[in-house]
Amino acid sequence: VRDTLRRVEASDVHGWCSVDGESALSRARELDKGRANEGDLPPLYGLPIAVKDTISVRDMPCTGGSRVLEGYVPSFDAPCVERLKAAGAVVIGKTNCDEFAMGSTTETSFFEQTVNPFDLSRTPGGSSGGSSAVVSNGEVPAALGSDTGGSIRQPASWCGVVGLKPTYGRVSRRGLLAYGSSTDCIGPMCTSVEDCAILLEAMAGHDPLDVSSLDAPVPEYAKLVDQFLNNKESLSGRPLSKMRIGLLKETLDDGEGRMQPAVMAAFKDSLSVFKALGAELIEVDIPNLKEYCAAYYITVMSEASSNLAKYDGIRYGLRTSSEDPRAKRVMVDSRETGFGQEVKQRILLGTFALSAGYSDAYYKKAQKMRAALASNFERVFELVDALILPTAPTTAYRLGQFKENKVETYIDDLLTVPASLSGLPALSVPCGISAEDLPIGLQIVGKPLDELRLLQIGAGYD
Ligand code: GLN
Repeated sequence: VRDTLRRVEASDVHGWCSVDGESALSRARELDKGRANEGDLPPLYGLPIAVKDTISVRDMPCTGGSRVLEGYVPSFDAPCVERLKAAGAVVIGKTNCDEFAMGSTTETSFFEQTVNPFDLSRTPGGSSGGSSAVVSNGEVPAALGSDTGGSIRQPASWCGVVGLKPTYGRVSRRGLLAYGSSTDCIGPMCTSVEDCAILLEAMAGHDPLDVSSLDAPVPEYAKLVDQFLNNKESLSGRPLSKMRIGLLKETLDDGEGRMQPAVMAAFKDSLSVFKALGAELIEVDIPNLKEYCAAYYITVMSEASSNLAKYDGIRYGLRTSSEDPRAKRVMVDSRETGFGQEVKQRILLGTFALSAGYSDAYYKKAQKMRAALASNFERVFELVDALILPTAPTTAYRLGQFKENKVETYIDDLLTVPASLSGLPALSVPCGISAEDLPIGLQIVGKPLDELRLLQIGAGYD
């Protein structure tokens, strides 16, 4: 823990919103004492971890990258944090993110700009950009991120780390600041697939206090991944020989040129690796893949407009004092000062998409598309065990690119949002490096609750 704190101190990537060295050290001392008494080490004994600032950790500030939550210090641990702590992990601090996780570059945060350890003039991706940056920079071995439409996978890919978005409901989302509640997920970001397996195993499982939590047994991911890497096929160099891997036509033929050539090349190279590892590659089709981006943004903005109504300057965080003490004035002023531009715009668009007279054309239409996508995935997963596709169409943006053309950055989420809309698990693993030395990631998407297979494929490929 002391070593971690030294590295955090020396870092130049600005990945943290808050660090609590004192409590991390005292927790580490407590663990040391326990060890002297009991002898047995808990599985994550003394593991320093970072937690995205959208996730509640007891007695640490939780801002979600927003000024509106200035001064809010939750009195409880999110169940995922509680479980990691119980397994011996030590929380070092909270990591920076786009405001309420709305963004792809960590640039909408109220805090200072986090940068990419591979190139300090670029973004680490987002919204979990603080988590990906501090793991990639070697400050902590593991971090938690949250992913509504790609926020674990895309920053993992841009910073050259591994990120897992579990099946919707696999990890309790209680204690996560809600953005798009119907797709919000918490997951691990680490330097290896095996580490993601260890963290997922510690965090996953039913939470009766989260209505969307799944009541399904939690496999021993870490042990089963290890066994897989040591089975007969793996030892003979063909770990994927029983896997049917699907390739989406839409990602192989990039008619519109949205995919950077370096990303395309790395992805195509990885296909020969998959083949060499024994996988059977099968072409499948999800028509109009790109259009789901629109359905995603309509859905999450609508949900956000409702979820963010509770930040009224009365119950939590920032309260702007005004001459006029009436509640309505306090609410309007606090929200006006507390929320940033992007969040305000999304609340307005979401309110519009839900309003009488427009909801049929926008919100309800988006839900119909979501249902169509789910049946497309069902059809595809009858033919294959998992799908592979690039995680993002480009490498890390330069700082400022998001502001220059916001709609383009929304569209660049096209490869991560489909799994989100259908609640499917998806793992991003590094698959190459561009001529400019920027990491490129590959995404493996699976059936609901099929995280084990994704981890096995990822570990076999890695
Ligand atoms: N970039 C997407 C958005 O802004 C995804 C963000 C996320 O997954 N939290 O909504």
